[in-house]
Amino acid sequence: MSNNDASNTVKQPTNFIHQVIEQDQQQGLEKVVTRFPPEPNGYLHIGHAKSICLNFGTAEKYNGECNLRFDDTNPGKEEQEYVDAIMDDVRWLGFSWAGEVRYASDYFDTFYAWAQHLIKAGKAYVCDLSPEQASEYRGWATEPGKNSPFRERSAEENLDLLERMKNGEFDEGSRVLRAKIDMASPNMNLRDPILYRIRKQNHHQTGDKWCIYPSYDFAHGQEDAIEGVTHSICTLEFADHRPLYEWFIENLPVPSTPRQYEFGRLNINYTVTSKRKLKQLVDEGHVSGWDDPRMPTIQGMRRRGYSPQAVRNFCDSLAVAKTDGTVDMAQFEFFIREDLNDNAARAMCVMNPLKLIITNFPEGEVEMLSAPVHPQKEMGSRELPFTRELYIDRADFSEDSTLSRKKFRLLVPGDYMRLRSAYVIKADEVVKDAAGEIIEVHASLLPGTVGENPEGGIKPRGVMHWVSATEGKQAKVRIYDRLFNVESPDKGEGDFLNNINPDSFREIDNCWVEPGLINAAPETAFQFEREGYFVADRYQHTPETPVFNKTIGLRDTWKK
Ligand code: ATP
Ligand code: MG
Repeated sequence: MSNNDASNTVKQPTNFIHQVIEQDQQQGLEKVVTRFPPEPNGYLHIGHAKSICLNFGTAEKYNGECNLRFDDTNPGKEEQEYVDAIMDDVRWLGFSWAGEVRYASDYFDTFYAWAQHLIKAGKAYVCDLSPEQASEYRGWATEPGKNSPFRERSAEENLDLLERMKNGEFDEGSRVLRAKIDMASPNMNLRDPILYRIRKQNHHQTGDKWCIYPSYDFAHGQEDAIEGVTHSICTLEFADHRPLYEWFIENLPVPSTPRQYEFGRLNINYTVTSKRKLKQLVDEGHVSGWDDPRMPTIQGMRRRGYSPQAVRNFCDSLAVAKTDGTVDMAQFEFFIREDLNDNAARAMCVMNPLKLIITNFPEGEVEMLSAPVHPQKEMGSRELPFTRELYIDRADFSEDSTLSRKKFRLLVPGDYMRLRSAYVIKADEVVKDAAGEIIEVHASLLPGTVGENPEGGIKPRGVMHWVSATEGKQAKVRIYDRLFNVESPDKGEGDFLNNINPDSFREIDNCWVEPGLINAAPETAFQFEREGYFVADRYQHTPETPVFNKTIGLRDTWKK
């Protein structure tokens, strides 16, 4: 794929579907109608986001409409929980579907009538072969199949048997309805494919009304036709199903003629985008849930602090082509950082606190300092209480005053440092406990240095972040990193679970944040000075127990 270079974002990536639509418009197409058709058997992931952006984005671009339709033909694996999460995801990405949400199950009566229509036309039959026999009769890609002995049943018999299948008279697996097409077709999908199966399962939309359910193939194109979809966009694995899709459209009294187009699915390295594997991660407790911030699910990315705009920018940067490709995680992360750099409020959080006592600042006094919320953008200012006792990060102090100033922007005894948006200070001495560990640093501030350079040519070694130890608030910070530490976690030998990054999650309880942060609305993004980008947790952040999730570091630390 040609989109490994983040700098090509300004170029319009190629999109063959848009080319097709523009040709269709020249031929007189009036309105573009697309649909996003998830099966509610899991949560949506970044690959689905690409499909959402493509379907909804295409409708937007050409002033058309995009439907949200649940492809709920397989009740055993489907759940209302997934339906709800998927609607939430589409809305979060900023899209709205045309009219009401639709369900394949809305059309089950029509599909049934259409099955009867095929039977009457001599194009479908009830087959009693067992699944094992049926697969034997099907043949191989290189070897034609054999006709089922039930293929020549009369229309009357077939209609009767189908009715009785519907009424629950037969056991699961004992009979199916099949199209009568061609058992010798080189395309296996045309070897008398299954239209209906018996499944004595309760359905999340239709309850116990049905005990036969249509196959994906017998449903999808007809759904498109009923809804007036013009461009039915799906992933490449359906290319071989297209002749069947077209066969149904030709042989059924459908109200319109949609066309199917296949594009390459999105894969990203360092993660997995198989619903089955994502479900396994959840079910086996390797992550905290579908919305664990390490998951590539839309709910996970949201909880991690990715903005919908960043996800869309990334998806829109990808070519829509007829080949599958793997995109580098770093390319995705580029869009996350770019967006956060522009939009995240700046704040200070000390994650490994070391007490800094400003010996020439009066005890009990609070001086309110002001700092910009964003260094470039007009996002207002925030108040920072400055007090005698502060916290700085342990990693920002060294006892070794011989360290080179150029290389080490650390506070060292006898030297100067600027506290961000506050005074220039000089470290004077350290206080240690009995074990020899530093427990306090004593320093003095240079008066008049807030926003001003010190007099006498004094140059601080650098700028460091700080939080008032008496006015600041304690917070919990969860540090996340990539869930897998190899590029292709699900390729190669062994279980993909062996490739889980053991350092992908860690929680730090004793962090200190600016007091204003506890009132941040959940899902507000911050850049914690020097530490990276963080987000107030969507579910657990409250003023009483502030919780921030690390979204991403300031720089790519995975670069080889
Ligand atoms: P499965 O069918 O195995 O349950 P799926 O990932 O195909 O999984 P669907 O709910 O059928 O899930 O997907 C809804 C839509 O999203 C389909 O049109 C599908 O082609 C598209 N889609 C799924 N995965 C990707 C991906 N990785 N990249 C782009 N589009 C995808
Ligand atoms: Mg699918």
